Amino acid sequence: MGDPSPPSPLSDRYSRQILFRGIGEDGQRKLAASKVAIVGCGATGSALAGLLARAGVGFLRIIDRDYVEPSNLQRQALFDEADAAESLPKAIAAARKIAAFNSEIAVEAKVADLIPSNIEELLQGTDLILDGTDNFETRYLINDYAVDRALPWIYSAAVGSYAVTLNVVPTKTACLACIFPDSPRGIVETCETSGILNSAVNLVASIAATEAVKFQVGGPENPTVRRTLLSFDLWTNEHAEIYAAKPRPDCRACGQKDLIHLAGEGRPHITLCGRNSVQIHERQRPIDFREMDRRLQPHGIVKHNDFALKFWRDSYEMTLFPDGRAIIKGTTDTAVARSLYARYVGS
Ligand SMILES: [Zn+2]
Repeated sequence: MGDPSPPSPLSDRYSRQILFRGIGEDGQRKLAASKVAIVGCGATGSALAGLLARAGVGFLRIIDRDYVEPSNLQRQALFDEADAAESLPKAIAAARKIAAFNSEIAVEAKVADLIPSNIEELLQGTDLILDGTDNFETRYLINDYAVDRALPWIYSAAVGSYAVTLNVVPTKTACLACIFPDSPRGIVETCETSGILNSAVNLVASIAATEAVKFQVGGPENPTVRRTLLSFDLWTNEHAEIYAAKPRPDCRACGQKDLIHLAGEGRPHITLCGRNSVQIHERQRPIDFREMDRRLQPHGIVKHNDFALKFWRDSYEMTLFPDGRAIIKGTTDTAVARSLYARYVGS
């Protein structure tokens, strides 16, 4: 007698989560059917992706423009030393790592910078957008898109020992622009100036991932979904919640539908968080790495794999991607970066 065949060792993968009253078998099925986009796969994105992949979200699209570096390893939980040695794009490294612990879900890696001209292509088909970015420009773009498509999204940020997060359900709750009408001006704290505790990242990612699970299991309007902007400083233990349950009627984005970020007005070059570098946005410039490698050999040190080409000259380091996008390290001057790009790649 007994069981006709032994169960697969993974058949009870989600058993402890199914036992949790808020999820159950029905909730687990909903998670398996859900499609989540994670924009930015640094520290927060990596933690979000890890948690949701282990929880059994059936489809994850991971969008990131950057590559793994040694300074990421202190807090970016999906990457290891081999990824940094190879300068692997974060989206690719994340998808590989997830496949090793949950091969039952689908993960789509997109090595790209989310901008107005590609946002539709990168986010279409998903039902929830999670913020793993490090800049307000991209967050306002996500907010405009979410408002336009009536898609829920979750804002998350961490710097120093401080973490902050907001659930946005367009037309039902406040959007990012309801609470912060404009980007912060003047000197803004970044991971570069203030450093960051890995625990602040994990805190914000844990809260946002749990809210994401609530969205998927009970719908974005279910009463367990938090309706405040929540902030917590892990070092001082100060914490606050700001009411965000209702949209502001005069909000530029969700009230007036003036979606300036989605329209792509005045996009500047971006200085990345965590290093002294400038990104050059180039779209219509496919790069043949072998040809480029040959061309750059006389001018400095060149190395490439299938995903990126690196070129060192003087105190600058340029990383080129197949679509012609480049990250130039060693300067925060966009003119210098533009000129190096023009000199070695094309103008
Ligand atoms: Zn709003």
